[in-house]
Amino acid sequence: MAATIIDGKKIADSIRQDIRRETERLRASRGITPGLAFILVGENPASQSYVRMKGRACEEAGIYSVTEDLPERTSEGSLLELIHRFNGDPKLHGILVQMPLPRHISEERIINAIDYRKDVDGFHPVNVGRLMTGQDCLKPCTPLGIQQLLIRSGNDPGGKHVVIVGRSNIVGKPLLSLLIQKQRGANAVVTIAHTGAKDISVFTRQADILVAAMGRAGSITGAMIRPGAVVIDVGSNRVTDKNSKHGYRFVGDVDFASAASLAGAITPVPGGVGPMTIAMLLTNTLRAATGGIYT
Ligand code: NAP
Repeated sequence: MAATIIDGKKIADSIRQDIRRETERLRASRGITPGLAFILVGENPASQSYVRMKGRACEEAGIYSVTEDLPERTSEGSLLELIHRFNGDPKLHGILVQMPLPRHISEERIINAIDYRKDVDGFHPVNVGRLMTGQDCLKPCTPLGIQQLLIRSGNDPGGKHVVIVGRSNIVGKPLLSLLIQKQRGANAVVTIAHTGAKDISVFTRQADILVAAMGRAGSITGAMIRPGAVVIDVGSNRVTDKNSKHGYRFVGDVDFASAASLAGAITPVPGGVGPMTIAMLLTNTLRAATGGIYT
């Protein structure tokens, strides 16, 4: 039996329409326009394209945004100065520094410098700690998007065994923190697998919900999936494709054809987790502007 496709784009579009209505309401009732600053350092084409895409999404959602496009040679000191300026700017409720940064800049020092109340990526240690201890906070966009995809597609993680492959600070670890909480839309039993495992298929085959976040194209095959499992493919890997317009296309970490013949439900790439990440960035910016998270 073929898997149900979880349409991340459709779910994200509906969230974005709700955000647009909410931003209009916030402007009308309290005179607040949510504002988000993007900081881009260097000329990485993928980063430039992500920031452009997020900027367009802000515009459509009624969120004011500014982009600070800095040269590769920008010093850590001047980037920190800019962050301090944005921290104190009342028009800006969110600050997003697009990663990766050039090697001479410490990502850790930059993340730590952002006011945690404007940390719409949810990477600041205050937010990481609050997330792990079940306190309200700004939460990382990709894990939050995955949780929403599961809930909104009728696959609530409550009581399920979720197996995540990948332990990065932006996907695997915060998704663990989110889904193990004794809260609605969470309350899962969570396992994380990584390169330390001798054979990840021992774990992946036990998953009711399998999340692939490895950055390895097509490496989760049908043989590694329990029949009927829900498969969330976070991977976004650029592969050469001479037949496509740009000479490349994006594929996930899951071998879609073999996985879809066994899974109960599966996200496509593109059109699965990616659009949800952007929708959650808008959600976080709106929440930061509305206030009340850190009272
Ligand atoms: P990352 O920082 O490179 O982390 C990858 C993780 O996967 C690491 O923990 C690594 O284990 C583990 N891993 C790699 N190969 C493995 C293997 N063969 N077996 C078991 N574990 C393995 O990557 P990331 O930033 O989390 O991103 C993961 C993927 O998601 C990438 O394709 C990225 O482009 C994509 N992504 C998509 C979105 C979106 O919005 N769609 C957002 C974020 C990321 P070790 O720790 O042991 O090295």
